[in-house]
Formats: sequence, structure tokens, C-alpha cells
Amino acid sequence: MSLIVTGSIGIDTIHTPIGQAPDVLGGSAIYFAAAASFYGPVRLVGAVGDDFPDELEKPFHHFNIDLAGMEKRQGSKTFRWTGKYLDNMNDRETLSVDLNVLAEDLPPVPAAFKDSQYLFLANTHPGGQLALLEQFPAAKLVVADTMDLWIQTEKDLLTTLLGKIDGLVLNDSEAHLLTGETNIVKAGEAVLAMGPKFVVIKKGEHGAFLLHQHGAVALPAYPAKDVVDPTGAGDTFGGGMMGHLAATGGNTSLGNLKKAMAAGTVVASYNIEAFSLGRLMEIGQPDLDMRFAEYAAMLDVGA
Ligand code: AMP
Repeated sequence: MSLIVTGSIGIDTIHTPIGQAPDVLGGSAIYFAAAASFYGPVRLVGAVGDDFPDELEKPFHHFNIDLAGMEKRQGSKTFRWTGKYLDNMNDRETLSVDLNVLAEDLPPVPAAFKDSQYLFLANTHPGGQLALLEQFPAAKLVVADTMDLWIQTEKDLLTTLLGKIDGLVLNDSEAHLLTGETNIVKAGEAVLAMGPKFVVIKKGEHGAFLLHQHGAVALPAYPAKDVVDPTGAGDTFGGGMMGHLAATGGNTSLGNLKKAMAAGTVVASYNIEAFSLGRLMEIGQPDLDMRFAEYAAMLDVGA
């Protein structure tokens, strides 16, 4: 299905009300790629520094991810992020962020990746997102994610990016920051006015809202009881969503986007059951199918 992603690959330290995980594998591209790989092969482009421990590479090989575009850059340091979740396990603060290699050039895209049709620009410096995008002028579907840091520090680059993509995925607070609108529908309309054909606004434990030129969709989150670490929920949602879209020929009809959002919701609901990629490494297709059926039954309100 030739799905390619760039984004952050990092070392995270996570604090939650029920425990801590120091120096674990994280990064938007890693969570995205792991989730999307349940739907087909994923190509990853990104860099870590020469301090990246071999130990953290293990999960890369567990999933169906082509790592030919991943560089361990000598003389550079790996992206690091430390976050703390509040008691509600939904809101979080960033305690520290060290961009390091994320602020440098993107590694070259391998020749074997040049036929990629589906691009996901996971949350990272918009300069890196644009650098990948510019190499795929004929891509069939391009979707990007972003966050508050980039809206605050790189608004011009982000605005350029928005004019070149098909879809944008972001949190409700980020949609507000980007557009100045507090109402989710008005924020979605303001994003569409910046260029994308559709926008998915994520609302954490309250689900996700899609605004598309042909209508809107609102889906709840899967009601999760045992939340251990919400990190990567947004990225794995994006991975499941884009994995489904790539596996279905890039069909962005309202109905297919709704199914894609449901796929993203289900894979994200597993991801939050353990720190880092722990839970995604344990599950397989039957687990996803089972929870998808349960979620679909829950949404069925009759005709
Ligand atoms: P999510 O919980 O889906 O928003 O994603 C969390 C992941 O995003 C963590 O693994 C972090 O390493 C990564 N992350 C945090 N801040 C940034 C940033 N400014 N740019 C790129 N990735 C980030």
C-alpha cells in the first residue's frame, strides 16, 4: 500500500498518577508506524542521534516497518520529551522537550521509497514535514498532524504546509490555538479555509470530530477502563486511520473516513493500556477485529 511516514523518533520519560517510565521508546512516527503496520507495510523516514540505545531498537523489528529511511546520525543527539499526566489521565503538561536531531535536516528518502502514494506527516518540525512532502508531488493522499509547539513557534511554515495537504489531524486545544475558534465546528471550518479538504479534531477520552467538505462525523472514544499511559494515543489513532485509508485505495469519502476513524479509535484504545509500545507488541489482528466489532455494535443506534 506504499504508506510512508516521517515524524519524531524519541526517548520519552513519562509520569502518570499510577507510575513512571523513564527513557522509553517514543515519538510520533514510532507510534504511528506501529499502529499503521497492522493494516499493511509502513516506510519510515527519520533520524535519531548516536546516543540512541540499541535496546530501544527492538520494537522497530517487531512491526512491519521498513527502516531503510532511518538514520543514526553521528554527532547528533536523539529527540527527548518528558511529559506528566494529570489525575484525569487526559490532560498533560510537557515538562521538557529537547528537539536535538529533530531540528536538523531530514535523512534522504531511499530510492525504493519513491513510489510511495500515501504520506503521513506525523507531528514534528513543519520544516521536516515539508521536506518529505516536496519529494512526493504526485502523492495520492497526504495527511499531517501537528501540535501546540509548532503552532506557536513555526506558524508560517505550518501555514505553507496546510496549503499543500489533503487532511489535518490535531487536538481540540490545538485547533483552538491555530484558528482562535473555541467552537469545534467553527474551528474545523477555519482549518478547511486554510487548505485541507478534511480535518480530524481529536478530543482525547471524548473521541474525535471530522469535518469534511461533504459533511461531519463525531465518534466517541472506546470506553477504556484500564488506562496506564495515554502517550501516543493521538499518533496511534492517526496510524490506524491512515493505515485503513491506504489499505482502501486512499478513498476519502465521508463513509470511508468514518471507518478509518473507527479503526484509529480501536488501535489507540489498546495503545493506552501499557507504557510505550508495550501493549501494541502484545496484540494481533484478532484483538483488533474483536474490539472493532464491539465498538461498532456500541455505535449502532438503529435506523
Ligand atoms: P501523542 O500522545 O499522540 O500526542 O504523542 C506523544 C509522542 O509525541 C511522544 O512519544 C513524544 O515523544 C512525541 N512528541 C512530543 N512533543 C513533540 C514535538 N514537539 N514534536 C514531535 N513529537 C513530539
